This record gives sequence, structure tokens and C-alpha cells, in this order.
Amino acid sequence: MIETHAHIYDEVFTDDREEMLNRAFAAGISEIWMPNCASETIAGMMDLAKKYPSQCRPMMGLHPCYVKGDFEKELYIIEEWLNKEKFIAIGEIGVDLFWDKTFIQQQEVAFLTQCALAKKHNLWIDIHSRNAFWETVALIEKNADSNLKGIFHCFTGTLEEAQKAIELNFLLGIGGVATFKNGGLDKILPHIDLKHIVLETDAPYLAPVPYRGKRNEPIYLQMIAQKVADMMQVSVGAVIEQTSLNATKLIQ
Ligand SMILES: [Zn+2]
Repeated sequence: MIETHAHIYDEVFTDDREEMLNRAFAAGISEIWMPNCASETIAGMMDLAKKYPSQCRPMMGLHPCYVKGDFEKELYIIEEWLNKEKFIAIGEIGVDLFWDKTFIQQQEVAFLTQCALAKKHNLWIDIHSRNAFWETVALIEKNADSNLKGIFHCFTGTLEEAQKAIELNFLLGIGGVATFKNGGLDKILPHIDLKHIVLETDAPYLAPVPYRGKRNEPIYLQMIAQKVADMMQVSVGAVIEQTSLNATKLIQ
């Protein structure tokens, strides 16, 4: 299994990070992809990338919730890292209108700037879009790069939104929300082909049921795979095989 989105460098794992990772590897998770948030998260992420080079694979980007007045300086740091280390993607980047709309314009500029970095470095993008699906789509269309591809991480939208994301060449990152009672993914997944889906936990956030509200970690990817299999009425083996293939294709 490939865990396509987990903040395993987060400080909530300080006391048992190694055990947490070993649990995941022992359960058959072959790779954990790490989205960056801001300059302050880079050191911890790169430590893990150095320690587990074939398993913990870093992305580089500025998360929309970290886009503030100093975002240009942050983007400069990100660009410097892109020039000196290898990353699998630009992420996580996007638009978040859930918490704070103060920096909406800066968020848009940061997103488009990072789409340009993706093109320059020939990388895909890992999108964080919250309460902002169509705003994000408008920016992707404005960016007008037909080679741009990636993942709508933590996808929880409507069927129409899912189809739009697929039309734009994006995969849907499915996580713990799949297990939530009113998560809504039961209305979408039966109508989507498995080839458009990848699995993620977004650890330490969004733990699946029965751990909802508690600390999330990559090993719970198993539960998400099982729930996706149930909703799509296929075997969990088929879900794991196809989603891993979809993820692998992104980084080839
Ligand atoms: Zn995330």
C-alpha cells in the first residue's frame, strides 16, 4: 500500500515516531508520502526522508493555511529547496476558505506560483482545497498547463466535483472521511472508477472510525482501504492493487 498523504514529521509523533512507522511498514505500507506545510516543517520532514529514503518520500510546498503576509519569503525558501533536493511533488498547495479568508488573494498567487514551480521541476501537485473546490478549479484552468496532474487530497466533494477533478487529470485522495457516518463518499465512490483513486490518512488528522477524533497514523490506511472496498463492492485486494498502481504512475 502507498500512503499518499501523512504528516509523520508532526510533533504529536515525537515520543513514538519510530514505532509508529515500523507498525505501518510491518502492515504492508511500502511508502509514506509527506506533504510539507511551511518552512518550519521542512527540517523534520527532511530528517525522515534521509532516515528512510525509499519509504518516506517528501513533497515541497506551502500549505494554503500557512499563506500569510510573508508568503513570498516562504515561497523563496521552497524554491531553494526544490533546487537542491529531490522531491516527489509540490505539496500541499491550494486554497482554504474554511478558516480564514483574510489572505485569499495571497493564497491564489501562492498556488499559481507553485503550479509554475511544478512545471519547471516536472512534478505533480498535491492539492489541499477546503470550501474552495471551484475556486481551485478556476485557478487550475487559469494556469492552463495541460500536463499538470496530481491529487485532490482529502477529497470529500460531490459527484460533479469528482468528475471535474478527473476531467482535469487529477486523482481523488480518499481518507478517513470515507469511514464517517455523514462523510458523503458513499454517494460518490460507487460511481467512480478505481483508477481515479489513491489512499491517504492525512495523519495525524482525520482518523477513521473507530478512532475518529484521536491521533491518526498511517497504519489506519488499512481501514480506509476496507471501507472503500465495501462502498465500491470490490475486494480490498483489488482496492490496494489499483490504488497503489495509480500512485506509482504519478511518480514515474
Ligand atoms: Zn495534509
